[in-house]
Amino acid sequence: MVIRMQNDSIEFQDKGQEVQLIVGAGTSLAKLVNFALNNSLAGLEWAAGIPGTVGGAIRGNAGAFS
Ligand SMILES: Cc1cc2nc3c(=O)[nH]c(=O)nc-3n(C[C@H](O)[C@H](O)[C@H](O)COP(=O)(O)OP(=O)(O)OC[C@H]3O[C@@H](n4cnc5c(N)ncnc54)[C@H](O)[C@@H]3O)c2cc1C
Repeated sequence: MVIRMQNDSIEFQDKGQEVQLIVGAGTSLAKLVNFALNNSLAGLEWAAGIPGTVGGAIRGNAGAFS
């Protein structure tokens, strides 16, 4: 069986001093990084260039430059 996550939504919630992103597990890291860039959000710079989805990155504990 193959399960393909197709939820690639990114929901932006303004919490005043901070923002919260609710991101579908099927969202590509590239799309999420571009979303952060286009909204002047810092913190996801490490994910630039890493292929795969947000779900896969969480499952694999992806990271870089640490
Ligand atoms: C050129 C290149 C550079 C890379 N650089 C880095 C790097 O700098 N740092 C780093 O950490 N990694 C790096 N990687 C590895 C990359 O992060 C992983 O391959 C990627 O995160 C896997 O995501 P995926 O969506 O392709 O998952 P898949 O390969 O499809 O799955 C990976 C695992 O996660 C599980 N999984 C996937 N989605 C979900 C979900 N929604 N819920 C639960 N489990 C799930 C799968 O069952 C599987 O066990 C690199 C890979 C390449 C090819």
